Amino acid sequence: MSEKIQKLREILAEIFDLERASALLGWDQQTYMPSAGALMRGYQSGTIDRMAHDMATSAALGKLLDDLRPTAGSLDPDSDDARLVRVAALDFERAKCVPSDYVEELARVAAQAFPAWAQARQSSRFSVFQPYLEKLVEMTHRYVSFFPPAAHPYDVLLDRFEPGLTTAEMQAIFKPLREKQVALIKWIATAPQVDDSCLHQKFDTQAQWDFGVHIITKIGFDWNRGRQDKSAHPFTVSLSADDVRITTRMNPDYFGDSLFSTMHECGHALYEQGFAEGLGRSPLGNAASLAVHESQSRMWENLVGRSLSFWRYAYPALVTSFPQLKGVPLTTFYKAINRVQPSLIRTEADEATYNLHVMLRMEIEIALLEGTLAVKDLPEAWNSRMKDYLGVTPPDDAHGVLQDVHWAYGELGYFPTYALGNLISAQLWETIRAQIPDIEAQIEAGKFDALLGWLREKIHRHGRKFAPQEMVRRVTGSGIDAAPYLRYLETKYRAIYEG
Ligand code: ZN
Repeated sequence: MSEKIQKLREILAEIFDLERASALLGWDQQTYMPSAGALMRGYQSGTIDRMAHDMATSAALGKLLDDLRPTAGSLDPDSDDARLVRVAALDFERAKCVPSDYVEELARVAAQAFPAWAQARQSSRFSVFQPYLEKLVEMTHRYVSFFPPAAHPYDVLLDRFEPGLTTAEMQAIFKPLREKQVALIKWIATAPQVDDSCLHQKFDTQAQWDFGVHIITKIGFDWNRGRQDKSAHPFTVSLSADDVRITTRMNPDYFGDSLFSTMHECGHALYEQGFAEGLGRSPLGNAASLAVHESQSRMWENLVGRSLSFWRYAYPALVTSFPQLKGVPLTTFYKAINRVQPSLIRTEADEATYNLHVMLRMEIEIALLEGTLAVKDLPEAWNSRMKDYLGVTPPDDAHGVLQDVHWAYGELGYFPTYALGNLISAQLWETIRAQIPDIEAQIEAGKFDALLGWLREKIHRHGRKFAPQEMVRRVTGSGIDAAPYLRYLETKYRAIYEG
């Protein structure tokens, strides 16, 4: 048994190496690669992804897992070895359904779709991206066809990012959430609007970078095991727990764009830097799911970063960095960064409207997959839903259907994890408040170690040992549930808009 486990670990370690080498090529493409490099990069990524996939579906690995599965039952079910066999077997079964040629083709097509998307977005012309997206949607249909029929074809996509959650379950969570969020937004619209003019001034971009670095250093980002660069679309890539890379962008007219995305990506990075040492170079050295990942980023960005306690601590330093804020009272600033205003861009959306952006995308993805919506009709479908959901109409495709990069990677089924991450972040927060009753006072004093320590202990160190639903249940005592997030929104925004 121990010899076979050792052999399994060796194979999985090499697969991990190849996957992370591919991630590094992707990081480079979005940060420093000259744009003309896209074609060759596509081949390079395609070759590596194919090699990783061939190893992940090899007969040798299959045989090893067949041998190990029965004996793994005799191990402590929560031990690393038992969990490793379970997770490796799941990955193997899923990977085996997908042909190598497909994996290679997807990497190649995505590497070319990315610059096409960037160019389309820059010139605000959907037609530039359309043929690539048509190809990627066609490939997504093919991907679904590789798997046994599910209750809904979207289940197959969702399972890549949020294992175990079905489309029907997700819709059951989202439906009441949407109704209650829409009602809250309507109520807010009847209250006098918050003045956020203090945020919309010229903010030195170097000072924005420096302030972001100051904050994430304070909350625990480990610079010996990570770095930050600039990119058009902020993201996090992890090459290992000892090399976690985040990016940010600076907007000279609005400092929040940079700070909140820096805190967001830092939340992802803290998770990746927090995996227990023994989980490295194995599939357990990954997040439980994208929704759990997003619960970490959204917690630092919003539950911490947009809270009054945090700004009682951080505001004096912010005013020192940006003297134009001198004379703006803390409460004015706090309300300004929490202003609710239905808007066009998801990543800039306030907490009250954010999930609606996500639900809109999910419905569009489901319609693309069901074949009731064609790619060429996307801009129109997008704009009409924006009007329905948020009461705003994009002036062009760059501010509409082209705003996000995910579809250029062929990643359909990803967006719902953003909203689920919000829900989980609030569930965790209620648990944290019960278990660390003075958490807000600590944050106000600029102390983040108890919070980070709690997250490390309950979530980070486990990596992918527990399935996402299981992880949430172990920590909070309940499955993924919208009620805590709704309570959080209600309390926060009633105070801001009634006061
Ligand atoms: Zn994120």
